[in-house]
Amino acid sequence: MPAWIFVNRSLALGKIRCFGFDMDYTLAAYKSPAYEALTFKLLLERLVCIGYPHEILRYTYDPTFPTRGLVFDALYGKLLKVDSHGNVLLGAYGFTFLSEGEIWSFYPSKFIQRDDLQCFYILNMLFNLPETYLYACLVDFFSGCSRYTNCDTGYQHGNLFMSFRSLFQDVTDDMNNIHQSGCLKEKTLEDLEKYVEKDPRLPILLGKMKEAGKVFLATNSSYNYTNAIMTYLFSISEAEASGRPWRSYFDLIVVDTQKPHFFAEGVVLRQVNTDSGKLYVGTYTGPHQHCVVYSGGSSDMVCELLGVWGKDILYIGDHIFGDILKSKKRQGWRTCLVVPELSWELDIWAQEKEQLGELKRLDTHLADLYQHMDGSSCELQVINFTKREIQPLPAKSRLSSAI
Ligand SMILES: [Mg+2]
Repeated sequence: MPAWIFVNRSLALGKIRCFGFDMDYTLAAYKSPAYEALTFKLLLERLVCIGYPHEILRYTYDPTFPTRGLVFDALYGKLLKVDSHGNVLLGAYGFTFLSEGEIWSFYPSKFIQRDDLQCFYILNMLFNLPETYLYACLVDFFSGCSRYTNCDTGYQHGNLFMSFRSLFQDVTDDMNNIHQSGCLKEKTLEDLEKYVEKDPRLPILLGKMKEAGKVFLATNSSYNYTNAIMTYLFSISEAEASGRPWRSYFDLIVVDTQKPHFFAEGVVLRQVNTDSGKLYVGTYTGPHQHCVVYSGGSSDMVCELLGVWGKDILYIGDHIFGDILKSKKRQGWRTCLVVPELSWELDIWAQEKEQLGELKRLDTHLADLYQHMDGSSCELQVINFTKREIQPLPAKSRLSSAI
């Protein structure tokens, strides 16, 4: 599969002295939709365990519905697609899309305060995809179930009221549970071929990077899980032939990093006993040792141990907040965001290139026409525009709607 790299700032790779990697969804790409389907099934099963109706088990994961970056409204139970300013572009209640009028009635000016964390939860990780679909399924189920009465902010069932906020809390706890209890990891490790992509180019890439500079791994996953995943990823013909263990590709390995805190105060740095996977008691204070695995710590400690700082480092991860924004803003590291959806978006762009070009040309033409009008002008009633008729818009919304 071809890899596309987009740059916001020029970057001379020759000046990078150290390459850092996240693991989940960066070095280890999970196979879609098998991995999301597994997560979704585990989420449903646990909800039933805590008292949700058995009927919800009939839902199966549909990868065509959720997309990363949607917002769940914990007050009204809607899933929203919102732009970077907070304008609501689309809304769904269960699997039913909201009409323009419904969006206006729930969200005045079609706008939300995205940073109102009491109401809005941004589902911005790939790990959130099954959870996104789960919100739609639960709303679909309770809305259609005759035992429950639909209310604006939840469902009434006898003397019980289930608010969307409590539903949100249950799903959030559910997600934390399947990650922290280890059940998702356990199922993943039972069938790595089914859930994890293996790319024979990975050892070659890391080998070359290590020749050019230092390489480190900083992952929130535990040592035992990291070791199992990385052993699988590096157990391919060339690496196997050379007998080179995965740890030898890194100058420094840090697990349990607790990003984004890792990029701020961090936690105590401990050494991992790689035979047992357990941590040695006490803070590690010795010099950096090759092939030793550490747990916790902070990005400052990584810099100290490796002797590299700021723009010397290029850190590569998939989480825009936990991996990229924090490492850039707090440490001044250079960053690379992994966005698997981009290749799909680019395919669409390539297919629709001609129509998009035509739209852009029409936009420019329309902007030229409006440029010569003032706010009170009513001259432009109907423009005969490349054989299409465009009705005049209300003065205030003309430009924003035209673009
Ligand atoms: Mg990750």
